[in-house]
Amino acid sequence: MEDLLAMRHFFETGITKRYEFRKQQLKALKASVEMHEHEIYDALYTDLKKSKEECWVTENGFLIAEINAAISNLKAWMEPDRVATNLLNLPSSSYVMHEPLGVVLIIGPWNYPLQLLFTPLVGAIAAGNCVVLKPSEFAPTTSGVMKKIIEETFTKEYVLFVEGDGVTVVPQLMNEFTFDHIFYTGSTAVGKIIYKMAAEKLVPVTLELGGKSPCVVEFDADIKVAARRIAMTKFSNCGQMCVAPDYILVHESKKQELINEMKIVIHNFFGDDASQSDNYGKMINAKQFDRVINYLKDGNILSGGKFNKEKLFIEPTLIDNVSLDSSVMRDEIFGPVLPIISFSSFDDAKKIIQLNKNPLAFYVFTSSKQKEEQWLNSIAFGGGCVNNASWHLTNHHLPFGGRGFSGSGQYHGRYSFETFSHQKAIMKTPTWFDPSIKYPPFKGKLGLFKLVIR
Ligand code: NAD
Repeated sequence: MEDLLAMRHFFETGITKRYEFRKQQLKALKASVEMHEHEIYDALYTDLKKSKEECWVTENGFLIAEINAAISNLKAWMEPDRVATNLLNLPSSSYVMHEPLGVVLIIGPWNYPLQLLFTPLVGAIAAGNCVVLKPSEFAPTTSGVMKKIIEETFTKEYVLFVEGDGVTVVPQLMNEFTFDHIFYTGSTAVGKIIYKMAAEKLVPVTLELGGKSPCVVEFDADIKVAARRIAMTKFSNCGQMCVAPDYILVHESKKQELINEMKIVIHNFFGDDASQSDNYGKMINAKQFDRVINYLKDGNILSGGKFNKEKLFIEPTLIDNVSLDSSVMRDEIFGPVLPIISFSSFDDAKKIIQLNKNPLAFYVFTSSKQKEEQWLNSIAFGGGCVNNASWHLTNHHLPFGGRGFSGSGQYHGRYSFETFSHQKAIMKTPTWFDPSIKYPPFKGKLGLFKLVIR
């Protein structure tokens, strides 16, 4: 508690609001992440068997790109935004100030432990806040390196790193102290717990949750390209990616061709034995391993299906003949098992998608502009891709976030800055013009009001 009060006092000094201070902290974070580059690789290899290349694209490189964007744009982001003033209020002028929220709590998951804790941190620093970071306890080696980075780079009244079991530590933090914002990434189930706890004190939240992200492959899709792009992101990080295609809905006329192509690309990517491949990760722990292994019984295995608990290895696996009531089609899979379901009409496919409301992501592979628009306009999802899967997340010019069951709020690039800022509306009115029409008595002025307010 003392630490948190010290953070509140530090925030109130106003130091964190200064442009130079924010910029300096972003540069310091970047330098520290660069300095510890090899420790980051080693830790992510230990926790998730990620290769250096995969780390660069999805963890430390991704983060550095976010920091660079924040450093380059910080001045412009901090400028108040001038907006128009309506006729009623002329000759006033109006603008929006971007004010830091205060002391914020960022809670991260284990699947991209560095990216998903430190990318929101970039937005929180850019916006001028003090930050408490709570990493997942399930990627302990990466958590150790992140702790070192934070403690070497920042004072603890500015950025505080709190490790521990989420079930105990998070409620403790939230009970002891009233945060100004909570930014949570993790499962929908825990998201609900956080939302309820935050509601007790009316603390605003951003929820970056999970869900089943469908991937539609239309009859007119380029099947070779679709197979390669779907397999690439589905099996990256051993399927433990929030925006991984969860299941495929393929037009019945193309199902066999897609399966054949997927088998080829999986072999091209990971060889005869994926457990030996540098490009293939592992499940984070035995609990997640057991959960995903259970899905193998829910369908007919088309390829893959081997596993080794000691190595936490599950082969990239394609299944079909799944029942829509089975666990594999009710839960978020979050592992390297990919159900392939065929459809014959748009309406049938849409009904299947609607069994799991508000996916975090949605993907459609088609060469028809009309099909593309039909799909994008019919499904309520967070964000997505056309003829691609998951990569929208890596473009910091796009907002990233879910809706409903997959979350609320968004971040990345300027959106992170806005998430961690209060948009303070200001109207400035000159004193030289003060017409009596605006003041009582109002009798007889209705006609004029109707002219000005419409
Ligand atoms: P999780 O919800 O189990 O844990 C996330 C964080 O919450 C951890 O720091 C954990 O310590 C804490 N926590 C756990 N139980 C808690 C409790 N009872 N009260 C308070 N805090 C608690 O999630 P996870 O297993 O680490 O991550 C997997 C899930 O996260 C998947 O559903 C995935 O889709 C989702 N996810 C979403 C995104 C996104 O950006 N939308 C990104 C990655 C993962």
